[in-house]
Amino acid sequence: MKLENVEKLAKELMTEHGFADWNFTFIHRKKRRMGECDSLHNRISLNRYFAENNPKSKIVKVLLHEIAHAISGSQYGHDKKWKLEAKKLGVEPLANFYFDFKYQKGKYYFVCFKCGKVINYFRRPQCKRSCSKCNPKKGFSEKYLMELIIID
Ligand SMILES: [Zn+2]
Ligand SMILES: [Zn+2]
Repeated sequence: MKLENVEKLAKELMTEHGFADWNFTFIHRKKRRMGECDSLHNRISLNRYFAENNPKSKIVKVLLHEIAHAISGSQYGHDKKWKLEAKKLGVEPLANFYFDFKYQKGKYYFVCFKCGKVINYFRRPQCKRSCSKCNPKKGFSEKYLMELIIID
């Protein structure tokens, strides 16, 4: 998405959920993290490289993830309260993949939005992939598709 549109979208979502007076910023450092919520400074941030390279549907998910932190208090991390708020906002209560990015180098990621499993690639993967952790049977399944995220 274009950054100016991302900013508009973020402000709209924040206003809708009662955070009209909070600030929205982009994270400009190359950090392997999609978003951040800072309750101390009333600020929600989004990774610029993530925002530039991914469609609205995925950006909305991350913004809602961060808004759930704003509601539950960001100092508490991904605790029960956060999970409850995330579910209310209709976003998968995932925690781990937001932190996995720190340790990975390639710019393409397959992410399972059900369990948070991440697979990192240096080149754009050419095939679809399903999550081996969530899929009870072996092999490919459309039902457990992983989503491609790009952080360039
Ligand atoms: Zn989080
Ligand atoms: Zn999974």
